[in-house]
Amino acid sequence: MRRVFCLACVALFPFFAAVGAEGEPLKALIVDGQNNHNWKATTPLLKKALEACGRFVVDVATTPQDKTKMAEFKPDFAKYAVIVSNYNGDMWPKDTCKTFEDYMNNGGGLVIVHAADNSFPQWAEYNKMIGLGGWGGRNEKSGPMIRWRDGQIVRDTKPGGGGGHGANHEYCIDTRVADHPIMAGLPEKWKHTSDELYSTLRGPAENMTVLATAFADKAKGGTGEHEPALFTIAYGKGRVFHTIMGHDDKSTKCVGFVCTLQRGTEWAATGKVTIPKPESFPTAEKSVVWEPPAGK
Ligand code: ZN
Repeated sequence: MRRVFCLACVALFPFFAAVGAEGEPLKALIVDGQNNHNWKATTPLLKKALEACGRFVVDVATTPQDKTKMAEFKPDFAKYAVIVSNYNGDMWPKDTCKTFEDYMNNGGGLVIVHAADNSFPQWAEYNKMIGLGGWGGRNEKSGPMIRWRDGQIVRDTKPGGGGGHGANHEYCIDTRVADHPIMAGLPEKWKHTSDELYSTLRGPAENMTVLATAFADKAKGGTGEHEPALFTIAYGKGRVFHTIMGHDDKSTKCVGFVCTLQRGTEWAATGKVTIPKPESFPTAEKSVVWEPPAGK
């Protein structure tokens, strides 16, 4: 009987089915296929990271590698409670962009991982969704840099290019909104495994909440600023979680990255967080490597 009832739900309320009942796994879709990063190594880790907590079932939509075949890329976004972007590449077809904007405006969820914020510099709505982005010709016309100075957010409109980082290194994440559901119970400061620390990102930065920053030490080639590291954006009725972390397989295998990815993805999908902090969570002194479960 239950099965019949569920099938009826799917038919009548496709979006409700995507979000699911309390405690039911959430349907997530990772988008990849082009990236100046090794997406073939990181997508399986992102998938495992989400599935490991039992809160998600994850599909992957891979774009064509060849620009001339991009018209074929038409995922059914509305089937999913949340879309996780591991994509940095050619523009999607116009219809797909419009479908995605509609999905977000109607209450969809989006998670931006690392170089996904390099994508689509010319797509205005995408830039509103991600809040901040880097490279691709981004500059002061794209919007301000967001700084954490003297205990508050500053919008820095100084001219210059958007996007930069020093050499990979371990760095600390500083929580700035401790009572946000994604951050609740996490340490005020914790050490991330070796990664790029994105700096001077620029964008509209509208309806954005900076959950955590990371200090980009000049000694490591950084800006000497506290750069936004984890943030959320309200877009239409939709929710976006953006993490600058996740450059490669090493930086993805971090207990702190995995926990904030899981929680941020759940929040983007539902507006709530039920995923607990793991006991092995890193401290201010020590990063902790995440061991993915064996198998696919
Ligand atoms: Zn990178």
